[in-house]
Amino acid sequence: MTWEVVIGLEVHAQLATRSKIFSGASTAYGAEPNTQACLVDLGYPGVLPVLNEEVVHMAAMFGLAVNATVAPRSVFARKNYFYPDLPKGYQISQYELPIVEHGELFIEDGEGNEKRIGITRAHLEEDAGKSIHEGLDRSSGIDLNRAGTPLLEIVSEPDLRSAAEAVAYMRKIHTIVRYLGISDGNMQEGSFRCDANVSVRPQGQQQFGTRTEIKNLNSFRFVERAINFEIERQIDLIEDGGAVVQETRLYDSARDETRSMRSKEEANDYRYFPDPDLLPVEISHEYIEAVREQLPELPDAKRHRFIDDYGLKADDALQLTMSRPVADYFEAAVGATGAKPQLVANWVVGDLSGALNKDGLDIGESRITARDLAGLVTRIHDHTISGKIAKQVFEAMWSGEGTADEIIEAQGLRQITDSSAIEVVVDKVIAANPGQVAEYKAGKDKLIGFFVGQVMKETKGQANPGQVNRILKDKLSG
Ligand code: ADP
Ligand code: MG
Repeated sequence: MTWEVVIGLEVHAQLATRSKIFSGASTAYGAEPNTQACLVDLGYPGVLPVLNEEVVHMAAMFGLAVNATVAPRSVFARKNYFYPDLPKGYQISQYELPIVEHGELFIEDGEGNEKRIGITRAHLEEDAGKSIHEGLDRSSGIDLNRAGTPLLEIVSEPDLRSAAEAVAYMRKIHTIVRYLGISDGNMQEGSFRCDANVSVRPQGQQQFGTRTEIKNLNSFRFVERAINFEIERQIDLIEDGGAVVQETRLYDSARDETRSMRSKEEANDYRYFPDPDLLPVEISHEYIEAVREQLPELPDAKRHRFIDDYGLKADDALQLTMSRPVADYFEAAVGATGAKPQLVANWVVGDLSGALNKDGLDIGESRITARDLAGLVTRIHDHTISGKIAKQVFEAMWSGEGTADEIIEAQGLRQITDSSAIEVVVDKVIAANPGQVAEYKAGKDKLIGFFVGQVMKETKGQANPGQVNRILKDKLSG
């Protein structure tokens, strides 16, 4: 029996506002517990929530970026449940009338084809607080700094068919929210996480299988692992004659397994109803059009433009447009050199990315500016140095020894393009290797590589390889 996997994701992106969704308390990360929770976040009686206008703007941007309908009218609802980190006894969310509906985005499936993934809805809600058990003796602590932090919950259609597709989809959302500047997407700080709904069905069956929901996955690697574990678990269970129970599960990354948290029978009845303290959110057609006008160029559009206008390889265009600062760096470098954009791309995707990774730096912290990288590429382009010497210059630039020109000058790395100078070395190499010369003349063409190597060694790699080849062949056949 072959099984088909069905996955739908609920992604939670923390919105990058300075204050909370319904109060003026700060959203800054890492403060002392309970120093950033005001009376509204604490759920005191008699206080009233006031909607932060910025979250509406951000949700509208997201909706337009994924081709969705931005609702002219959406409504906040109370989702009622009891938990110590939720002092109000309800979470304010959106239920029947979310702000964003019917969107889509495109990922690459396993065969390299574009695949459309439907976005059912995206709604605004507040985050809850956090319970702390670690380091406390027979008691738990509650930190409400997080309570009231604005979230956009983005719900996909069950269109994903593998863990890899789920990760590709989540990465795409991650890229989009960062491009829009509506979330910092910081996964370590919990600003970007997801719940994965997973089921399996026999290949060809129309009806979906029973799903489980894995809560709170906060890294791409965990999403992939948790889903793969869950797929295996469900298939084994069914093949052994059992049945999947609809339930919520938790992923334990230390053991690389999912465990049951609560079953459907224990599931809450949230008794949603419209929050009487908040007005419906009404936005005009003009407002939506104004937001559309201000949207930045999005990752897909940028990627296609990089391919069409700069003639980049598809893979490089994808790499360079995954983050906006990287794309901007690339374009700034292209603008500062007459060299081919693909040559610039090779350096950004290759040596520069490697150096950044090695030192754990973001592109914004690069030790080489876009203009200086362009300076290096220009010297390859105008044959002042070879690509090989350029790597050495790059290393020196990275260690702060100066610009490409300064390093080339200081270390005397300029390529030797003077034919007469190269001829002198070629003559010397030929004279020093009579045996190889005889063999070459007897038909062992391969030996040309040996001679080129010798000349390069003599010139510390600085002779122009094309000229070396030509001059050697001339002299050896003479
Ligand atoms: P709930 O509100 O109970 O979480 P939803 O209907 O809103 O349920 O679905 C939540 C997520 O589960 C969506 O992303 C949806 O695509 C996905 N989903 C629904 N049914 C299945 C299924 N049988 N297998 C996998 N995912 C599913
Ligand atoms: Mg759910």
